[in-house]
Amino acid sequence: DVERRALDVERPALTLADVGGLTEVKKRLDAAFLAPLRNPGLRELYGKSLKGGLLLYGPPGCGKTFLARAVAGELGARFLSVSLADVLDMWIGQSEKNLHHVFEVARSGAPCVVFLDEVDAIGQRRSQLRRSAMRSTVNQLLSELDGVDSRNEGVFVLAATNAPWDVDVALRRPGRLDRMVLVLPPDQAAREAILRFHLRQRPVGHVDLRKLAKRTEGWTGADLAHVCELATERALLESAASGDVREIGMEHLQAAVAEVRPSARPW
Ligand code: ATP
Repeated sequence: DVERRALDVERPALTLADVGGLTEVKKRLDAAFLAPLRNPGLRELYGKSLKGGLLLYGPPGCGKTFLARAVAGELGARFLSVSLADVLDMWIGQSEKNLHHVFEVARSGAPCVVFLDEVDAIGQRRSQLRRSAMRSTVNQLLSELDGVDSRNEGVFVLAATNAPWDVDVALRRPGRLDRMVLVLPPDQAAREAILRFHLRQRPVGHVDLRKLAKRTEGWTGADLAHVCELATERALLESAASGDVREIGMEHLQAAVAEVRPSARPW
């Protein structure tokens, strides 16, 4: 039963401090959502509404989803993620109904961050075949976003795309996804922070993360998270074979770096 499809509602324990780099992006998220929410008195004084959503755009694997989960973590909110490509593909003929269901679940569980991934999937530059299906999905999404103010109280919409030029312009009007934030691959300091984050709570020996960060120019957060996974696997395997706990060391990380093909680079 597609309609009762279990939605994966999460309560992320992440905070913005867990997100490596993206200093400007975090500032904008703070100004748009977090500061007004934390300061209801000031919000009232300035007449700041909590309407409007934010569109995160940029290449894959640079932390758009991760950021949205961290915003939910900061707000102590639930997190509900839905891919609009899935909404179209798997819910053919049901997409309006199911989109409505997503927002009803979010409203009943407010405060809730709704993460709409791949919003370009309902963009305009698509095949004629799917145009009418997309039109009605866009219209449904617009009415959910515009939903009577009080109904959307505590529902925060963050959307993401790798193809901002394909996002329907109607979605970008004021009060809807009215802010665009570019999420780029991490710089050296950010790469170091990302590596540190993904190695926290793991047995780590003497490692020079700065050196690794230097060596991974152009790598995405997803690539670096993968490096940490592979290095961990190597250390775990050695521990299993030797019978004692081997800390994750430079040799494991360097071997992992050699093994990973960074996604943003030519092969
Ligand atoms: P896509 O466009 O493919 O959906 P995305 O921009 O949403 O990509 P994420 O899914 O957020 O990328 O990133 C993938 C994984 O990479 C995250 O789960 C996280 O482990 C890691 N990651 C990416 N960016 C960062 C970051 N800035 N700090 C810490 N971890 C990161």
